[in-house]
Amino acid sequence: LESDFIAWLRQRVPPHPQLLLGPGDDAAILRLGDRADCVVTVDLLTEGVDFDLQAVSARRVGRKALAVSLSDLAAMAARPVGMVVAVALPRRGGRQLAIELFEGLAEMAGRYGVAIAGGDTNSWDGPLVVSVTAIGQTTAAGPLLRSGAKPGDRILVTGDFGGSILGKHLDFEPRINESLLLADRCRLHAGIDVSDGLSLDLSRIAAESRCGATIELSRVPISLAAQELARQEADGPTPLDRALSDGEDFELILAVAPDDAARLVSEQPVAPLQLTDIGEFVAELGLWQSTAGGNREPLEPRGWEHRFD
Ligand SMILES: [Mg+2]
Repeated sequence: LESDFIAWLRQRVPPHPQLLLGPGDDAAILRLGDRADCVVTVDLLTEGVDFDLQAVSARRVGRKALAVSLSDLAAMAARPVGMVVAVALPRRGGRQLAIELFEGLAEMAGRYGVAIAGGDTNSWDGPLVVSVTAIGQTTAAGPLLRSGAKPGDRILVTGDFGGSILGKHLDFEPRINESLLLADRCRLHAGIDVSDGLSLDLSRIAAESRCGATIELSRVPISLAAQELARQEADGPTPLDRALSDGEDFELILAVAPDDAARLVSEQPVAPLQLTDIGEFVAELGLWQSTAGGNREPLEPRGWEHRFD
């Protein structure tokens, strides 16, 4: 599993005086100067795994390739600055793919003021592979880590969840603006973007914070797409199951003190994007669901994990 490998890696990455935060969060933090810290993240998309060029234009792939990295910067409350890209192009039709990829990247870069700083273009007898490295900087609010949630903090989420396969997984908007605004408005204790599934990514933020999390299932915002998919697949997962475990929502999960959370939920400062309180961080490790009687029972974290052995 990818998570096992990352745990192995974290034991072995040597410390470095300018590495403030290494593998294991949404992005790394390097100290480059006195004023601002540099936030770096890389993502890789592979044809046949992450997208299908029969169904999706290379332009949308290019857009997504940058958007997933920007989503990680959003999870760190970092302001995006620049990006570099590496592509492995299939030899046949590679030039046209490269042009369309660039158009998608450039559109997304323009939206968020990201400099297209460089890249590397290879060709091979394989499928299209594209990797974007995004570079950002922390703001006066400081970086938002996975590790800062405290028992008693509320769990706030942006937007709604599930069914991203119907389109949102390609055309989502990284929550950069929302993250910067919220970090400016109040002290966010911890954050993560939902790339692999709401329950799985929530369990990650809880684990990094050495606490647990209790979800009130009736409060989970379920997307129309999750409801639509459940209608299409009568024997498949329920809309709530999809909201908890489908990947690639690219929304944010935030840990916020209760008074700040109540204020944010009532003020809705990033409307029309909805902020919802779905539960709380608790002292007991693990992921929990609250029951009608006011107790809690374990909830299995589910979502997408890359598998290899
Ligand atoms: Mg992430």
